[in-house]
Amino acid sequence: MEWTPDAEAYLKKVPFFVRKKVKREVEKYLQERGKNRVTLEDLLEAKKALLSKMSEAEKGYEVSGCFGFDSCPNALTDSSHLLSSLEKILEEEKLTQFLISKVGPKLKAHHKFKVGLSECPNACSQIHICDFALHGVVKISVNPKACSFCGSCVEACEEGAIELTEFGPMIKEELCVGCGHCIKVCPESALNEEFKGYKVYLGGKLGRHPRLATFLGYFQAEEIPKLFYKILELYKKYNQKGERLGAIIEKLGWDKFIKELK
Ligand code: SF4
Ligand code: SF4
Ligand code: SF4
Repeated sequence: MEWTPDAEAYLKKVPFFVRKKVKREVEKYLQERGKNRVTLEDLLEAKKALLSKMSEAEKGYEVSGCFGFDSCPNALTDSSHLLSSLEKILEEEKLTQFLISKVGPKLKAHHKFKVGLSECPNACSQIHICDFALHGVVKISVNPKACSFCGSCVEACEEGAIELTEFGPMIKEELCVGCGHCIKVCPESALNEEFKGYKVYLGGKLGRHPRLATFLGYFQAEEIPKLFYKILELYKKYNQKGERLGAIIEKLGWDKFIKELK
């Protein structure tokens, strides 16, 4: 959707970690009203309406992305559609009503089911303390025949994950975080994307018993909604008093949780 310069300037005043979400909400609000351009006047109207909607009903979940594909050179994925579909699933699954049934009408921040997404492994949006977290990632394939042994990839890799051998570059899987920087600097296209998708993590939280989210696996964007439904099903099944997913995983044990997930 097109934004006028004054509307864009106003949007830039929003803190960067929620800016993309605000932009999405404003566009959704205006699209529903038949508009395809955001003026400052529209933006202020949408802001007023959205703020009053928020105060009417505190949601039982939070969905947040990072600075994102439009604005950050490190972004590997473009997840605005994925984030919208996850938010839709949370609405469909009536997470707010579910949590209210467990903890009463006054939902607090620590009750919320948090979804966090970052478009690269830098994970700026604090995904590791979210219940359902994911970040964009690539896996590298090497074509040694194309390599000119320039060494640029070794220099570019901050993880020390590339060794230049006499047979060409060798990626140390255990060190590679999948940021894709090496691909960008390779002048010979000897490094390529074998996979582009997401790493998914579960059960991160702060609070009295903080827990970093546990790595679940690599997924393609189209596999994530189905996985998300299943996670929500387990979260509801084992939730007694509005516990966070991390507390449920701790109680069940990771192995049992994963067995049920399959
Ligand atoms: S997580 Fe990556 S893509 Fe997102 S803002 Fe941070 S560096 Fe940029
Ligand atoms: S993807 Fe990133 S971490 Fe992995 S080898 Fe390339 S530069 Fe290093
Ligand atoms: S940047 Fe490309 S051409 Fe240069 S050493 Fe690495 S793989 Fe080979």
